[in-house]
Amino acid sequence: MKEELKIKETPTCPHCGQKMSKCETPTYNFGDVSSGWNDPFLYICFNDECKFFVEGWERMKKYYGKNASYRFMYQPTNGIGHAIAVFSKDALKGQICKDETEST
Ligand SMILES: [Zn+2]
Repeated sequence: MKEELKIKETPTCPHCGQKMSKCETPTYNFGDVSSGWNDPFLYICFNDECKFFVEGWERMKKYYGKNASYRFMYQPTNGIGHAIAVFSKDALKGQICKDETEST
């Protein structure tokens, strides 16, 4: 079954303006999303200076007492933006699709 993607071109992050990275869909679920991902891949902002990511560390510590943050991401199948939880700066970076990294 071939799904029509809402997002066809690499989007830019609305929080920092950096081009987002195409990333393999993780096989585990995150916080507020219990149903898992149906997307063939995700677009994630991997900018360590991104305001969304930087503020995430403070918020997670303040509200949850956790040393974690989240990055901004889009589901290409429906164009919906989410926060994806990460526990280190390098989390998920191993999942970045190599063919999309040449222009960064
Ligand atoms: Zn960003």
